[in-house]
Amino acid sequence: MTVTALILGSGQDGGSPQVGTWGDGGIERSASSVAIITQDGAALLFDVSPDFRMQYQFLASYMGEVPALDGVFITHGHMGHYAGLVHFGMEAAATESLPLFAPRSVLDYLSANEPWATLITDKRLAPIEIDDATATIGGVSVLAVPVPHRGEYTGTVGFSVLVHGRPWLLYLPDIDGWDVWPAAIDTIADHDVAIIDATFSSLDELPHRDLLAIKHPLVSDTIARFAHLTKTTSIVLSHINHSNPLGKADAAITQQAEDAGFVIARDGMVIPRA
Ligand SMILES: [Zn+2]
Ligand SMILES: [Zn+2]
Repeated sequence: MTVTALILGSGQDGGSPQVGTWGDGGIERSASSVAIITQDGAALLFDVSPDFRMQYQFLASYMGEVPALDGVFITHGHMGHYAGLVHFGMEAAATESLPLFAPRSVLDYLSANEPWATLITDKRLAPIEIDDATATIGGVSVLAVPVPHRGEYTGTVGFSVLVHGRPWLLYLPDIDGWDVWPAAIDTIADHDVAIIDATFSSLDELPHRDLLAIKHPLVSDTIARFAHLTKTTSIVLSHINHSNPLGKADAAITQQAEDAGFVIARDGMVIPRA
């Protein structure tokens, strides 16, 4: 079955450049989001970012039509991953019962806080808990994969896309580290494609912030752990912070990642199912 993933955003929650960092010479990236387009023409969205408006335009131009989203899936309650939901309210798209798949903790958070709560009570969004159930839409199934990540508001999941019951693509934009998730190697190896957290390359890249308090695996650690998997799994490094030189042609970390067989995400990257 033909299934395509489209990387709509390859940046961290604040995008790149972030507010106040224009002119720093970083690669332009919108906040993390991936669309899955199925053979039946169904369009699913993983995370609804603050950059959703332009990302949806891009999806429409790629598909050659303005797509009706068949479902949106939210990984967790950090702003880069759900703030675009405001565009489904009556001031904008005014969707009707758009299926919103998320862990129970995310649904509880949205239901308890405005402006998200009104989107649910007005039935713009139809919340569906995905913790223990697989969602099947347009011939593909989506499974939530819980992972450890700063949980100020909600828990966090990644999403596994299964085609004909086989794991195809893993979307895992945020995790605190690989050591705290013992299933990391097996889960990544199980998939043909894994789009994973590559927020930071160095603990020094944001001099005014303590990156030990903003836990993410460093790209060098990711390379060391998973390089041997890249022959059979296409590992796509994404959710890249504005301070991270990964992807810049003259950056050593870009060379290291590419030499080790990793793919560096870009906005607009198309990943067809082979
Ligand atoms: Zn994030
Ligand atoms: Zn997060």
